[in-house]
Amino acid sequence: MTKHNFNAGPSILPREVIEKTADAVLNLNDSGLSILEISHRSKDFQAVIDEANSLFKELLDIPAGYSVLFLGGGASLQFAMIPFNLLEKKAAYLDTGTWANKAMKEAKGFGEVIETASSKESNYSYIPKNYRIPADADYFHITTNNTIFGTEILKDLDSPVPLVADMSSDIFSRPLDVSKYGIIYGGAQKNLAPAGLTFVIVKEALLGKVSRHIPTMLDYRTHIKNESMFNTPPVLPIYSALETLRWIKNMGGVAQMEKRNTTKAALLYDEIDRNKLFTGTAAAEDRSRMNVCFVMKAGYEELEADFLKFATERGMVGIKGHRSVGGFRASIYNAMPKESVQALVDCMKEFEKKH
Ligand SMILES: *Cc1c(COP(=O)(O)O)cnc(C)c1O
Repeated sequence: MTKHNFNAGPSILPREVIEKTADAVLNLNDSGLSILEISHRSKDFQAVIDEANSLFKELLDIPAGYSVLFLGGGASLQFAMIPFNLLEKKAAYLDTGTWANKAMKEAKGFGEVIETASSKESNYSYIPKNYRIPADADYFHITTNNTIFGTEILKDLDSPVPLVADMSSDIFSRPLDVSKYGIIYGGAQKNLAPAGLTFVIVKEALLGKVSRHIPTMLDYRTHIKNESMFNTPPVLPIYSALETLRWIKNMGGVAQMEKRNTTKAALLYDEIDRNKLFTGTAAAEDRSRMNVCFVMKAGYEELEADFLKFATERGMVGIKGHRSVGGFRASIYNAMPKESVQALVDCMKEFEKKH
C-alpha cells in the first residue's frame, strides 16, 4: 500500500533526495568511499558544503552582508545562542505557540524580555497583529510557522529593530525578503534534511555588540570565520540538504514551491470547510500552509478514533494531532506531493459518506 507521509518532523523528504543520499552513503561521486568515512576537510566534502552554501544564498536571494551557517544543536540551541550573541539589555518576543514560548523562556536568562503579544488565551489559534515593538529592544523574535498549532506569518514583517525568525518548519516554502531579517534559523528536519542539522542565516553587522564573554562554539563569529568548519559539521544531513536544494532549484525555486504549497493547502482546507464532520482549529487568515490542524466538528467528537483508524488503513501516516490541539494535524511540507493531499481529502469524503 502507498504510504502518505504527513509526519510533523522529522518528516517527508523528496524521494530523489533520499535515493541520492543513499548513493552517497554507498559510494560518493564514484570515489569508492562512503560520505560517512571521509574527512569533512576533504575535497569531496568541501565541494558539498560550498554548493549547499551557494544554493542556499541563490534560492533565497540572500543579500551581501549575510552568512549561511550549518551547525548542530537544533533550533533549540538557537533559542539560547541568539540572546547569547544579541541580547545586551532587552529583547522582544511574539508568543505564538510552544516553540515561541521556549525561545522566550531561554532569553530570560540573558536580559529583560518583553512579550509584545500572545494568543495563548485562545490556545494559539491565531497570530496577534496589534502590538508595539519597543524601539529600544536589541531584537524582535518571531516564529513564522507554528508547527504545533498550524498558524503561519506569511508576510515579511516590518520591525524597527532587528527581526529574528525561527523558520524551522517553513523555510524554502516561499520567497523571502531576507534584508528584513537579522537572523533566520531553524532545525533542518521539517523542510530540508534529516535531523542533526541547524541552519542559520545571520547578518554579520549585528554581531560583536554584547559585552558578555561568548564561548567559542556559541559565538556566530567563530562559525562565520571558519565557514561552518570550526569543528566537524553534520556531514550527512548537509549532503541531504544539498540534494534538497538542488531539487528545489529543479522544481523552479521558492516561487514555484509557494505555488505548490498554496494549491495543496487550499485543497485540504477547502475539504475541511466543506465536510460536515470536520472543522479547522486555526483562524482562517492565519492558516499555515505547512501544518494543517483540524478536529471533529461538535456532535461528531466520538468519531475521532474511528477516522484515525480509517485513514491509517488507507495509508495515511502521522495525522494524529499534537496533544496540545488534539484531533488531526497533516503536515504538508514542500516535499509532499499534491497526490498525497488528494488521498487524504478522498479519505475524508469517503468517511463522511459513511456517517
Ligand atoms: C521542530 C521545531 C523546533 C525544534 O527544533 P529542534 O531542532 O528539535 O530543536 C523549533 N521551532 C519550530 C518552529 C519547530 O517546528
